[in-house]
Amino acid sequence: MKAFDLYEPESIEEACAMLEKGNGEARILAGGTDLLVEMKSRLVNLTKVINLKGIDGLDYISFKPKEGMRIGALATWSQILDSDEVATYYPVLKQSAQVMASVQIRNMATLAGNICHASPAANGPIPLMLYEAECTIQGTAGKRTVPIEKMFAGVQRNSLKPGEILVEIHIPPPPELSSEGSYQKFATRKAMDLGIAGVGALAKVKNRSFDVVRIALAAVAPTPIRARKAEEFLTGKSTEDDLIREGAQIASKECNPISDVRASKEYRIELVKELTYRAIKKCTV
Ligand SMILES: Cc1cc2nc3c(=O)[nH]c(=O)nc-3n(C[C@H](O)[C@H](O)[C@H](O)COP(=O)(O)OP(=O)(O)OC[C@H]3O[C@@H](n4cnc5c(N)ncnc54)[C@H](O)[C@@H]3O)c2cc1C
Repeated sequence: MKAFDLYEPESIEEACAMLEKGNGEARILAGGTDLLVEMKSRLVNLTKVINLKGIDGLDYISFKPKEGMRIGALATWSQILDSDEVATYYPVLKQSAQVMASVQIRNMATLAGNICHASPAANGPIPLMLYEAECTIQGTAGKRTVPIEKMFAGVQRNSLKPGEILVEIHIPPPPELSSEGSYQKFATRKAMDLGIAGVGALAKVKNRSFDVVRIALAAVAPTPIRARKAEEFLTGKSTEDDLIREGAQIASKECNPISDVRASKEYRIELVKELTYRAIKKCTV
């Protein structure tokens, strides 16, 4: 690994100022499970690393029924998995944590780091897109809030501006739903593997028809995406199998996967059809 200077700021303001001064050669260190891999393989050329872990009070998960959930920048995947409130109010987030990496990685890795790394295959963005989360970003000029979908600019490219840090993820109060929702990740191995494709779904079923449907897709476009045409198609339709299959087919046309060492484009499209069907079907039982 190339030599670098390690900075230990004591406040977010100090960290933002250091990041901005870094002129593109500085990065934030949270759990380090993505950053250190990139640094060791020389995929990034950094001279400064800014460790957030010396800043107190960033590792919280809090929930208030009228406000929803707030997750701090240093809250780890293990905290998410252990949270009773995540299990009760945001079960798809829990499902995504259950199939995230391994215990050791989950103990180190943060949800905020998962978002900022901006891998199209990441586990975190899918439930956050289904629950329509927002991210609070702090920079030297102040704070701003952006919807989770706007955090992603391309493959492993987030939309943060120079000197900006993701400080909090806010998930609105849980929508009224008829089931827990579903997170379907297809990977070659059961642990320590990014998904070849992933699909999450939430639905509210009334009188055997879809009143609300949300679908989010991972690893099949340069960024995680919502399958809005499939959502529109299914809303108001009955929960019959044929219609769910048709909705899943529409979702598979909304994605734009690549072929790589892990799977071909065609295989990923087939996976989206099947995983979307399974995810929505789970919402109906
Ligand atoms: C063996 C292994 C298995 C894995 N399996 C999975 C998996 O199944 N699913 C999955 O989604 N991921 C997986 N990952 C990837 C990784 O663990 C996650 O993306 C993790 O959540 C990253 O969080 P972190 O805190 O370690 O981020 P870091 O590595 O500390 O940071 C990641 C990036 O985000 C930036 N960053 C971090 N926090 C902030 C912030 N608050 N504001 C601004 N920028 C920030 C950093 O500068 C860096 O560029 C795996 C990684 C490994 C090594």
